[in-house]
Amino acid sequence: MSDAPAAAPVLIEKSLPTTEMVDCMLGASRWNIPIHEHGFIALVDCMPRLVPQGQTADCAIVQSARVSYGEGTKHVSEDRGLVRYLMRHHHSTPFEMVEFKFHIAMPIFIARQWIRHRTANVNEYSARYSIMPDRFYRPDVESVRKQSKSNRQGGEGPIDSGTAEEFLKLLDDAESHYQRYIDLTERGVARELARAALPVSVYTEWYWKCDLHNIFHFLALRMDPHAQIEIQDYARAMYELIKPIAPVACEAFEDYRLHSMHLTGLEIEAIRSGAPLATENKRETAEWDAKKARLGL
Ligand SMILES: Cc1cc2nc3c(=O)[nH]c(=O)nc-3n(C[C@H](O)[C@H](O)[C@H](O)COP(=O)(O)OP(=O)(O)OC[C@H]3O[C@@H](n4cnc5c(N)ncnc54)[C@H](O)[C@@H]3O)c2cc1C
Repeated sequence: MSDAPAAAPVLIEKSLPTTEMVDCMLGASRWNIPIHEHGFIALVDCMPRLVPQGQTADCAIVQSARVSYGEGTKHVSEDRGLVRYLMRHHHSTPFEMVEFKFHIAMPIFIARQWIRHRTANVNEYSARYSIMPDRFYRPDVESVRKQSKSNRQGGEGPIDSGTAEEFLKLLDDAESHYQRYIDLTERGVARELARAALPVSVYTEWYWKCDLHNIFHFLALRMDPHAQIEIQDYARAMYELIKPIAPVACEAFEDYRLHSMHLTGLEIEAIRSGAPLATENKRETAEWDAKKARLGL
């Protein structure tokens, strides 16, 4: 007789959908948006992927939020109100119930900014394991911008064409190292070391999975005009990909986050009293001036 305990009976209750379920990605394995000459962002999966006919992935936000109240399913119009309430009041966890997985190709100087967003799951192309493909970021001559005078981190307006051409020549020179990189790896230099000779304009690729709450955080920072234009291009494309899948949450994000404005205590006091902002700080004053202009004050 065996001493092994008897296996516990496996009981799985499977509830069949009462309405027809539809695929949020309409049966496609990939929704791809090309970015610049060599880059792309592709949506490759999402959760929930299957939703009841007539609904969107927003239903997962509502489903998880309603557990708090123990209420049954409500009408879609009430669902929209609930999603908007959650967004307005920073109730973030229901938005974490929706997830998106992307396949992205971007230059390394953009990947460095992107990877700072720590709440995603990432798996990147290995330049230790494989040769880096011959793909480099090279803007058009009209897109070579000047250093901004007002924003030390940014650029503004095109630089004169002569200087732009000189810069593009410098990029081309860096790219010309590529064949030497290949030759030296063929002669036995380890790929993990040889890659050090490549410029940061070379493209890398990764899979990036993140929940909707943290995607909104990413988008709010990276669709903002203060972000580098090249990463803004990716962020806008990402937003285009997720919007049809969770349109109610995206609408709430636009209304209560993207196009909203945060007022500080000093700013509220300045509006209330009609007095200037009570600070000597020039940057804070400039920010207040920009907000007043937006408010039409
Ligand atoms: C315009 C712009 C300019 C920037 N300039 C610079 C720069 O000059 N130098 C530089 O180094 N970085 C810079 N950054 C990067 C920036 O400081 C953040 O690292 C990046 O935007 C990621 O933001 P996050 O940490 O909020 O996001 P995520 O890492 O996605 O985190 C989301 C949220 O999760 C929480 N969280 C995540 N991890 C932790 C943790 N370990 N502990 C506690 N809370 C956590 C936080 O609330 C956080 O806001 C810049 C970013 C932007 C948008």
